[in-house]
Amino acid sequence: MTTRLRVAPSPTGNLHVGTARAALYNWLYARHTGGVFIVRIDDTDRERSTPEYEANILDSLRWLGLDWDEGVGVGGPHGDYRQSSRFDRYREVAESLVASGVAYYDDRSEEELEELRQRAQREGKHPAYYIRRPDTPRSEGAIRFAVEESVEFVDLVRGEIRFEADAIDDFVILRSDGTPTYHLASTVDDVDYEITHVARGEDLLSSTPKHILLTRAMGAEPPVYAHLPLLFGADGKKLSKRHGATSVTEFREAGYLPEAMVNYLALLGWSPGDDLTIFDLDLAIERFDLADVQRNPAVFDLDKLTWLNGEYIRAMAVESFAERVRPWVEDEVGPLSDDEWARFEELAPLIQERTKLLREAAEQARFLYVSEITYDEASWKKVMEKDGVSEVLDAALDALGALSDWNAEAIESALRALPERLGLGAGKVFQPVRVAVTGSAVSPPLFESLAALGRETSIARLEEARRRL
Ligand code: GLU
Repeated sequence: MTTRLRVAPSPTGNLHVGTARAALYNWLYARHTGGVFIVRIDDTDRERSTPEYEANILDSLRWLGLDWDEGVGVGGPHGDYRQSSRFDRYREVAESLVASGVAYYDDRSEEELEELRQRAQREGKHPAYYIRRPDTPRSEGAIRFAVEESVEFVDLVRGEIRFEADAIDDFVILRSDGTPTYHLASTVDDVDYEITHVARGEDLLSSTPKHILLTRAMGAEPPVYAHLPLLFGADGKKLSKRHGATSVTEFREAGYLPEAMVNYLALLGWSPGDDLTIFDLDLAIERFDLADVQRNPAVFDLDKLTWLNGEYIRAMAVESFAERVRPWVEDEVGPLSDDEWARFEELAPLIQERTKLLREAAEQARFLYVSEITYDEASWKKVMEKDGVSEVLDAALDALGALSDWNAEAIESALRALPERLGLGAGKVFQPVRVAVTGSAVSPPLFESLAALGRETSIARLEEARRRL
């Protein structure tokens, strides 16, 4: 049997890392088993869903390298794979369940239902206990599914799970305005699309017995479920905005690489074994199994992700690194000619060593291209507002002005002679030159930076800093 898996994001926000992890696990399992991966858009909430969020979700999945065989944007035998296109189908199923007697209309008011809940509570029963089919049949209102049996299933991650019938309310499947609830839309799609495995966040575990009952009522076999551990922040609380970035886009814009990002997401609840931390998707496909996903909550550790990103950056060929960084640099300083870009390439190996995020690389390269240097305020204060800096800059201007060749070695020997001549420590000489030329006390190595920047600009910047002292 061909496996068929799906991810079903709601376009009510940018792609969340938790949903990205669910997408990845479904994708890995589909690829591991030679099956089909589907992207469906759960846009039943017409007020909160937007085309922009949908575009962000699809774009983020593509950026992560998770391609899909059927679904939104790709097509397939089931229409456009957006739930908003299938309201008629959901209504048809709800009505057929009424006709077969397993669902019923219910026009009781919220107040009446609340009274039933409170009664259950007073009697020490589950709040769902009395939310059952009323004695007199109704002909309008919402449609509820009549829960008459307990549900047992084996979750691939959590093992055997049982929900007692008394603890599951007769849940609404079609609202009185004719719109489907999540339970109905999700289940009808999973049945119609012949989904074989559903891997999704543990927060949806309590929905699963409802989906199983609905699936059986539709005459179908329920899929295999795998409820994935929730993501927590380093402080042990559920991952949320308070922890910083939570959407894939935010990480992308901060300069994380997609290959580091998917590698890290894969580790949030799974490990390929052999103490492997850094691995590519091919290896993950080969080894991944939903049954190996752990139950414990997974901690989203930003420091580890950043470390991993740095490892990926340093493992790149320097040409690929430069190619990946170029759009970032051009984003900061505008389009560059090939001659201008050659200056970056000169420094690329040195910048690569010092970079954990692509954005940082662009920041380090900025000084090469700006027509007017902006000084980092803290660097200026710490380095330039000291006694003796003007003498240092004068001496550097003299030494560099006398050079016939402008390259890193020549620059180095000219500047290395200065500390002794001036009776100062090396830092006291090199740091002012660095701030003058790059605008910051932190930069790629000094001599190479001066060489890449060129004689004219380097001298002009030293003179400009000298004037500003
Ligand atoms: N639309 C649901 C969500 O975004 C999908 C849940 C499911 O996988 O069934 O969480």
